[in-house]
Amino acid sequence: MQRADTLIHAGWVIPVEPRDAVLEGHSVAVRNGRIEAVAPRGEIEADWEADAVHELGGHAVIPGLVNAHTHAAMSLMRGLADDLPLMTWLKEHIWPAEGANVSHAFVDDGTRLAAAEMLRSGTTCFNDMYLFPDAAGAAAEAAGIRASLGMIVFGFPTPWASTADEYFERGIAVHDRFREHPLVSTAFSPHAPYTVPDESLARIATLAEELDVPVHIHLHETAHEVNEAVEQEGRRPLERLASLGLVGPRLQAVHATQLTEEEIQRLAENGASVVHCPQSNLKLASGFCPVAALAEAGVNLALGTDGAASNNDLDMLAEMQSAALLGKAVAGEPAALPAEAALEMATLGGARALGLDDRIGSVVAGKAADLVAIDLNRVATRPLSHPVSQIVYAAGREQVTDVWVAGRHTVSGGRLTTMDEADLLERADGWRDKLSANA
Ligand SMILES: [Zn+2]
Repeated sequence: MQRADTLIHAGWVIPVEPRDAVLEGHSVAVRNGRIEAVAPRGEIEADWEADAVHELGGHAVIPGLVNAHTHAAMSLMRGLADDLPLMTWLKEHIWPAEGANVSHAFVDDGTRLAAAEMLRSGTTCFNDMYLFPDAAGAAAEAAGIRASLGMIVFGFPTPWASTADEYFERGIAVHDRFREHPLVSTAFSPHAPYTVPDESLARIATLAEELDVPVHIHLHETAHEVNEAVEQEGRRPLERLASLGLVGPRLQAVHATQLTEEEIQRLAENGASVVHCPQSNLKLASGFCPVAALAEAGVNLALGTDGAASNNDLDMLAEMQSAALLGKAVAGEPAALPAEAALEMATLGGARALGLDDRIGSVVAGKAADLVAIDLNRVATRPLSHPVSQIVYAAGREQVTDVWVAGRHTVSGGRLTTMDEADLLERADGWRDKLSANA
């Protein structure tokens, strides 16, 4: 008999690797934060004992969801300015409100609020792009959620940094602080081609190799962005990034609603990832990411909510449903982006984009125990023929009951174990009063 920390007896384990597997009546043994075994219940019970044993016979256990693009602290700007085009929204509302309010304390409170929402909806890892990533990292650590922090770079001053050198110095200090951290990693996050000059992008290409980190950037988000670049510089932003050495396996191209056939091939041949944010694209009327064509070409696809100011929630279950539905509509083909593909985008695809697929993204022995239990024994998801179909097309985030991150039980019976929700709400309301003065 071997000793585990936690045994989870699930109705179904959906490992995502292999893609179509649904393991009925299986159990998961967790020890020291890692998955030790996934096997039929009888085998696990014969081999393992543990103090914490969870009977989840009406639940599906899936890998923790990976939110591959968000601005976590923007949860404090949820509902601040809605129903506007991207550039009006950014320039007239979001950037002025940020300039006047964003600080270490803002990012600390905002990231905690976001982490609470994400954990409660089954997200165990988020890829963040925001100012004060040091504060976001500390908040993630306190919440017990996994994070990839963006070493953010803009071509103009912000409350985080004034000059190019300062962006790099402060970003690399964050990288050094969290080096070898079990939950927190880093990536370069140049905001977008239109906000970051060539010199900084070239510097990122070199430093990303040296530090062995990904590069997380908004790219081809709207037709306006691409057209303006063509008018001003005579080429499309992806072409410019390629000339600066940024199109490779480290690249996380967020949005990518404007892609030619050649650009899809270029992303595929260079091993780049595309992070699809369907609800943000819909809300800002940014355009449609050609997800089925990208998948066909072999491009790794990840899924993100974007910030809560442009979505307006951080709900990866809903995002999966939107991705699957929109993928079919854009392709004009109902077989495009089946439920299993949407689930893979939200888990293993995100892990690959973040360079973390050796550690997370699927329920297999040896990986971190980032696990989510979804109660399918509810009216919304019965009768139950296909668990993956129910999760992608029918389940709501209120059906997430239990979440583990690296084996730590961060949501138990629908309640956060790492954070005080009443305190989070009080702080959020305090920021609402300050922000409304600048919106
Ligand atoms: Zn974004």
